[in-house]
Amino acid sequence: MSLANGENPKILQNFIDGQYVDPIKASSVKYIPVTTPHTGKIIAQCPVSTAEDVDKAVEVAKKAFKAWSLYSRTVKDRVQALIRFHNLLYTHIEELADLIILEHGKNKSEAIASISKGAETVEYAISLPQLIQGKILEVSRGVSCQDARVPLGVVASIVPFNFPIMVPFWTLPIAIATGNTLILKPSEKVPLTMNRVVALLKEAGIPDGVVNIVNGTVDAVNAICDHPEIKAVTFVGTSHVANLVTERCQKLGKRVLALGGAKNHLIASPDCNIETTSTDVVNSFTGCAGQRCMAASVLLTIGSQQALLDRICDKASNLKSGAKPGEVGPVIDKVSLDKINRYIAESERAGAKILVDGRHWTSEKSEGFWIGPTVILHTNKEDKALHDEIFGPVLSIYECSSKEEAIEIENGNPYGNAACIYTTTGATADWFISRFSAGMCGVNIGVPVPREPFSFGGINRSKFGNFMDITGDGGVEFFTWRRKVTTRWGTGDLDLKLKM
Ligand code: NAD
Repeated sequence: MSLANGENPKILQNFIDGQYVDPIKASSVKYIPVTTPHTGKIIAQCPVSTAEDVDKAVEVAKKAFKAWSLYSRTVKDRVQALIRFHNLLYTHIEELADLIILEHGKNKSEAIASISKGAETVEYAISLPQLIQGKILEVSRGVSCQDARVPLGVVASIVPFNFPIMVPFWTLPIAIATGNTLILKPSEKVPLTMNRVVALLKEAGIPDGVVNIVNGTVDAVNAICDHPEIKAVTFVGTSHVANLVTERCQKLGKRVLALGGAKNHLIASPDCNIETTSTDVVNSFTGCAGQRCMAASVLLTIGSQQALLDRICDKASNLKSGAKPGEVGPVIDKVSLDKINRYIAESERAGAKILVDGRHWTSEKSEGFWIGPTVILHTNKEDKALHDEIFGPVLSIYECSSKEEAIEIENGNPYGNAACIYTTTGATADWFISRFSAGMCGVNIGVPVPREPFSFGGINRSKFGNFMDITGDGGVEFFTWRRKVTTRWGTGDLDLKLKM
């Protein structure tokens, strides 16, 4: 079934060489039901592609690379279609937001914001003609050195469920603007949005075969990692799978960047502004139902800060469930819901105080995967909820006796995505920023996502692979290699000497 008329198909297809096609083994292909988390109802069936589908996509992408890459097109030429696509993204923003709300559960403003964030990487890619001209320098008399960015060939991106369009757009625009052709493996939990977006890329004039979608799960991912003609792989998802993908790619000497999970710590200094801090902390841990790799997970207060805790609990408990701006949506599926409920129950059993309990949303709703904002005050540093990634609207609070204890806890966590200090004093901010172990730090900002042209990426168990970053200048570095050319043309003087 085609998506060209904007309808949601029941049975999804792959998108290869500019066409929606069934997987090659159509008669035996398995399908995974895609549910809407609002009700748990099945809205589509996602095909489980095999290695043969990946082979086909690579063959097509390899052919498309010749016409799309540096050999015949300039970067200025390539971004023209992205300029048209950027317009199409905004013309279709309501339709795309509705798809994100349906398949993922984000509220309306979160869905719109995630598309706008995706559009920002398109804007960055559109500006690449101004940014990647390379350098040229006369390094010795009559000898010049020049470097140029060269695309790698066929590249692939494997993405998670939590941002159906934004995370694919961390790689897609830069990968293709620099001249690569791409195979995208969407999350089988949210395949609808990108399935629609590729039709818009085609409408914008991106040639067939430049962007291909292979739906599926483990088999498709393994085939991507193992394929000798795929030159580079980006992955975003849990740390466990990020590690597997990295090891598999590196065995073949393949360029790989794999972003993993997170456990982000926010620290409240006693001098923080209670009103702005409480609002920001609540937005950080409840936004997108806590399903953001940059979401607040642990709040460490320095000393007891009852007034701050009261405001956080007050604001969190007043939030409503739903899909309107400001409301908290459901979590992705039953597995995730059960996991979140388990962590809350375990904390309670271990003696933690549940200051705000969102579990009643689960029991009150007759369908869907709902859990309300939950705030837990821990007294035992060993509680699992303080250490594991929960990925739901849950905030664990621990009261530290000093700033040294707070930084020791933050530094001791194995992840390294985000950390934030709330304070009204520059010196306190500097003290923490220079000691945080996270790759993306905030001062009074609980979701410190670096915007273009800065690149995005954590450290430690939040990032595996060749240790570049995704998006921004890190993305350009990842998706290109540098050709260095050293040139000497005979000068007039030299020619004269030879004749004499
Ligand atoms: P996931 O690891 O379950 O899935 C990610 C992708 O890997 C999907 O496309 C899936 O089909 C595939 N996959 C799943 N299991 C696999 C396996 N065993 N072998 C090969 N492929 C496999 O992640 P998710 O639940 O979709 O996403 C949530 C996770 O992503 C969270 O941990 C979150 O922190 C992380 N995330 C990280 C960042 C970041 O920037 N660090 C950004 C967004 C999400």
